[in-house]
Amino acid sequence: MAKTGMERLKELEKEIYKCIHCKACRFAYSGEPSKNGIGEFAGKQGTVLYEGMVDSCPAGIEYGWEAFWNAGKIWIARSILSGDLEFSDEVRDVIMPCITCGQCAAQCENKIPTVDIIESLRAACVESGVSMIEKHELVDRLVKELNNPYGGKAEERFKWAKDAGLGKYINNKSAKVGYYVGCTASYRQIEVATATAKIFEELGIDFTLIEDEVCCGSPFFRIGAVDTAQELMRKNLEAFKDLETVYFSCAGCYRTITIDYPKWMAEDEKLPFKTMHAFELVSKLITEGKIKFKPNKELKGKVVTYHDPCHTGRHFALDMEQEMIKNSKNLMFDMRKVNKAIDEWFEIPRVILRKLEEDVGIKFVEMYRIKNNSMCCGAGGGVRAGYPDFSLRTASLRCDEANAVKADILTTECPFCWRNLSDANDLYNHGMQVMGVLEMISTYNLLDKSNM
Ligand code: SF4
Ligand code: SF4
Repeated sequence: MAKTGMERLKELEKEIYKCIHCKACRFAYSGEPSKNGIGEFAGKQGTVLYEGMVDSCPAGIEYGWEAFWNAGKIWIARSILSGDLEFSDEVRDVIMPCITCGQCAAQCENKIPTVDIIESLRAACVESGVSMIEKHELVDRLVKELNNPYGGKAEERFKWAKDAGLGKYINNKSAKVGYYVGCTASYRQIEVATATAKIFEELGIDFTLIEDEVCCGSPFFRIGAVDTAQELMRKNLEAFKDLETVYFSCAGCYRTITIDYPKWMAEDEKLPFKTMHAFELVSKLITEGKIKFKPNKELKGKVVTYHDPCHTGRHFALDMEQEMIKNSKNLMFDMRKVNKAIDEWFEIPRVILRKLEEDVGIKFVEMYRIKNNSMCCGAGGGVRAGYPDFSLRTASLRCDEANAVKADILTTECPFCWRNLSDANDLYNHGMQVMGVLEMISTYNLLDKSNM
């Protein structure tokens, strides 16, 4: 039987007590492109600082008060465990506006799993009987009724595929490879779903879209509605059980099914299929020399930057780190291996962008905060649904960072990041184009099949 939020919080007690309240987790390094000097850029959300350690917790930046930064939340967890504090609406309203971006966990030298602590704290808060905020109650009700948090009809989940002439892949019985599309790409950012499926088709992959696919449960694991999340998990495990590999185009779904599901499954249960994000596949084929791109006049000379989604970037890196530390017999030596593995992980999408630079003629430029130090897009952790103003201001701050390096196109590999960055780009007039990397490849017909 799955553990309760309170049981998980108790299990994390040792980690919680490791926190020395040093507050290093509020900062991250900003300064990748030149790595020298001090600089600033006047953006739509004020001044973006680069070249040094800068405030990086979106919740702390937005609300300012001590309790909203990660160190404050760890203190709340400690006080709940010691009995000095009880759950209440006030406590909920401090622990919920957090994007669970993991920036704090990536910075903590004590390697405290802050996101696990915050998520357990939220689950314990819900279990204690404190009501969820109204918007979270709404998405919880919608997903229970319709299997997606957007209120979309089940029969319209793959409308994008039928409209794009890709209907033959729905419940394609011959395929051993699946494409888990997720709710955002199915009902909102259909460009991402269409582009990914078209690239699979162009690569000659026999894949299937599973009609019984439901929400991966990510928002519900994050906001403490873990019973809802587990029900969704069970439905997906049943629907995808006969596949060998499942591909993803959404960072959140990929993280949830790869990292969260095994933690919530029974101890003797294993994920029945391998998982891989579509960008990993494309990157691998480039490295193997199997993919080239065609030059493109429209894209030639365009400055393109890349936003690392927290869920495919930092969250995988942190999981990798925790796993390697757990299995380590010589931590001093193994930390070098950990850092190398993390570096290699973050390079995967960059292999595609560099190849696009070489073949297509784009100019790939990094933002100042990247990889483990990357600023969040503001969409995750139930924040986009629950606190849209905070969410969009955070996305605008990220757009400021893309403006600071004069990007024409801001790319990412997650439809949820795409949505939030694109909305902030429009709302605050950042003047860029927001696109998925695979969406760019598909929209501009860049795949050169001469080598395939
Ligand atoms: S979580 Fe880590 S970095 Fe943050 S205050 Fe605690 S010990 Fe310091
Ligand atoms: S997960 Fe992100 S938003 Fe939440 S406390 Fe940590 S850095 Fe701040």
